[in-house]
Amino acid sequence: MDALSEIISALLWLLIGVPVGLALHEFGHAIMILLLTKQKVTFQFGAQGTKKEIHLGRLAILLHFEPSAPFGCRYHLENYAALSRQQVFWITVGGPIASLLLAILCGVLWLTTNRIDPWRGLVVLNFVAFLYSSIPGHYAKWQGVQGGFPNDGLQVAQLFQRKKDKNDVSPR
Ligand SMILES: [Zn+2]
Repeated sequence: MDALSEIISALLWLLIGVPVGLALHEFGHAIMILLLTKQKVTFQFGAQGTKKEIHLGRLAILLHFEPSAPFGCRYHLENYAALSRQQVFWITVGGPIASLLLAILCGVLWLTTNRIDPWRGLVVLNFVAFLYSSIPGHYAKWQGVQGGFPNDGLQVAQLFQRKKDKNDVSPR
């Protein structure tokens, strides 16, 4: 394969790998909600507003693709205040766990498929997604519906901070 076709193939894998990786990260959160609560979960892809809606049991998927927010991805649940601290913790860490598992899976696929390049790239991509969501901070503004919100690591840190505060009697 010459250099140009290698670059094109790498870009194609990125184009598939980034949205799929982000969607599976969010799915990690959603699976925890479906497993630990009886609540309905909404999955939002792209920009705010809905262009298409898909319903699968307690899971609703809203699609609104826009060039300005191609990789936006976010989940909502019916009643956040009704969750226990333990539920909030597992739902929050569900995303980073999914990214880490995906990185490990791509690593295994890379090792077992004669080290074909796309898998190696996807290991890096999903591991970066794991770090980016775990190390406490805020999501970048360009990230569509997620932009500006605290990431998973910061949400967990805030959860433990609230636990330390004896005066805080909020249910989450
Ligand atoms: Zn997340």
